[in-house]
Amino acid sequence: MILFMLRIVEDYVRKAEAVVYNIQIQTSSILVIVTIMIFFFLSKKIGLFTEKVFTRILIGAFFCLLFDILSIVFICNDDTLPHLLVEISCKLYLASLISMAFAGFDYILTELLPEKTYHKSIMIFFTVIPIESIVVFCLPVSWYHKGRTVYSMGPATTMTYLFAFIFIIATIYTVITKRDRINKRRFIATSSWMALWMITAMVQFLNPELLIVGFSIMLGVLILFFLLENPASLHDKRVGCFNSHALFLFLDQIFERGEKYCITSFFFEDNTSDETLGTSSNIMMNTATFLRRYRNIAVYKNLENELVMLSKSPELTDKIVTEYRDHYRAHLVRIAKERSRTKARVSVVTLPDSTLVKNSDALFSLIHMTKDASSSGSSLVIQNVDSENLKKYYRFHEVAAEIRSALDEDRLEVFYQPIFSTERNCYVSCEALARIRRADGTLISPGEFIPVAEDTGLIIRIGDRVLEKVCALLSERKEISKILDYVEINLSVAQFKQADLFEKFVEITSRYGIDPAKINLEITETASIETKNTLLDTMKLFLDHGVSFSLDDFGKGQSNLMYVVEMPVSIIKLDMDMIKAYFVENKAKHVVSTTVKMAHDLGLHVVAEGIESEHELDSMRNENIDFIQGYYFSRPVLKDEFISLISKAG
Ligand code: C2E
Ligand code: MG
Ligand code: MG
Repeated sequence: MILFMLRIVEDYVRKAEAVVYNIQIQTSSILVIVTIMIFFFLSKKIGLFTEKVFTRILIGAFFCLLFDILSIVFICNDDTLPHLLVEISCKLYLASLISMAFAGFDYILTELLPEKTYHKSIMIFFTVIPIESIVVFCLPVSWYHKGRTVYSMGPATTMTYLFAFIFIIATIYTVITKRDRINKRRFIATSSWMALWMITAMVQFLNPELLIVGFSIMLGVLILFFLLENPASLHDKRVGCFNSHALFLFLDQIFERGEKYCITSFFFEDNTSDETLGTSSNIMMNTATFLRRYRNIAVYKNLENELVMLSKSPELTDKIVTEYRDHYRAHLVRIAKERSRTKARVSVVTLPDSTLVKNSDALFSLIHMTKDASSSGSSLVIQNVDSENLKKYYRFHEVAAEIRSALDEDRLEVFYQPIFSTERNCYVSCEALARIRRADGTLISPGEFIPVAEDTGLIIRIGDRVLEKVCALLSERKEISKILDYVEINLSVAQFKQADLFEKFVEITSRYGIDPAKINLEITETASIETKNTLLDTMKLFLDHGVSFSLDDFGKGQSNLMYVVEMPVSIIKLDMDMIKAYFVENKAKHVVSTTVKMAHDLGLHVVAEGIESEHELDSMRNENIDFIQGYYFSRPVLKDEFISLISKAG
């Protein structure tokens, strides 16, 4: 009896020893999975659909490891348990292995396919996987355990390895062939996960007693979690909200799905460089705390000084913004008491419907455009993107697209307007003026496209093209240089910011064999204010090279006589507004007379722009204006018409 009891105990200990030996890895792996689950489920998520896929993977991994442990325990106790129960436990484990092998492929599909296509293709797999599992369930399975060695085998096991192998190969193939379209981190995560799977599956297939597949499942989940799905990587710890990476991931998703969201940007700016007054960052922290009170919104930190709030409800957004206005005022009063004064400024811009734009780039340029359009000096500016802003935004992008296509398809044209000398009574120069010819033959005027070109940087390409065309014309039609002293070409501020402006000019003019003295560059006062330091150095390079300068648009906006003194220009061009004013206001008349006198005293010549009638011409002659430009002589015209005009006059 005692011997029998001892044998039972001994048998029990032996089995327990085999079980413990074989489930050590699986148990520690399942503990790691549970820990990740706790971190993942407890942290605030943004609502990405990849988060759902990862949740599926986590749950799948948990059950796979659980069935693995269960099957080992059951196999070790097969003498006491019903055969069917052991068989079911083994097959459950095998079926869960197939789903886990598919998980990697599933994850890659989220990156490669648009969401709708992803959902369609995933439905196919959700049909294939149960079919494969049924096949495995129908095939016989056997198992082996002796001492510490435990494993399952037979057709069901072989078939499982085959199905898993197909999924792994499909994933590896997709990752490699589509690597250009896969985000780098996802590429690393998925390919290392799959490589791990391949190695462990092969090792376990060849050595069934090494039960390491469960371990590699846990490692795969760990890699995914740390490289891609760790919610901590989507948080801005300082401000206590989501970060811009999270924002753009989520925005990409809502634009792809065409979801309607109400998007509000809060911009925090300091109007002073005084650090002690630099309260914008405090106000941003305070705003983030204020916004945290509300449910059903998500707050993200975008740029260094911008918070973005997303909400599904325009009413809720209105309520929050209104309450924020009061909160902000109260906060300012508090700051004012503590620090005597504040120079911070907050701009709040809301786009009530995200479906009005196509992507996040468009969204933020629209929001920024609306913010910049406000001229209010108030410390809190609240605006909505209205239909006017939207129209302006679309027009801006249409024009930018027109400029790009015109440059690519050589539809940028140069018109020429002659400039008449009152002293010599003939044309002595001309101004080159850019035009964009639409594909349908109509023209876009510079008034419309130059500001867009300046904002988008396309002005650089326009400037180069205009210079190229002027040089080509001067080298092709030598008579122009005989009749005219030089051609005036406009230069924008943005062009002066190029480090290689002078080198490019020299390259283009010398390629066409043009004498630099035949070019006069028109600069504006804005150019001289904004880039004054580098401007003078660059101008010197041009002057030494023989190029002369005109000061364009003099009298438009706030003219500063000091610039005339400081800038090495040889001509002052009186703006059309000033000329028009000359004929209606006595004061303007004095200004023109004085400017002409001053310019002459400084040894400069004066051009009057916008002369449209004989009366205007005569008045300008009486004022001793040197040169006349205006519709009275000619509108800007195309090169052939221009050449015949100056040739006839000559
Ligand atoms: P701007 O340099 O002051 O050029 C003179 C503008 O006055 C031209 O307008 C010309 O057509 C117009 N104008 C001349 N005479 C008369 C007149 O008698 N009556 C009236 N009503 N207008 C007259 P446009 O060609 O529309 O150019 C507008 C502005 O666009 C230019 O002003 C210049 O600032 C800019 N722009 C034109 N081409 C270029 C370019 O190639 N590069 C750069 N950066 N700016 C350019
Ligand atoms: Mg000009
Ligand atoms: Mg002008």
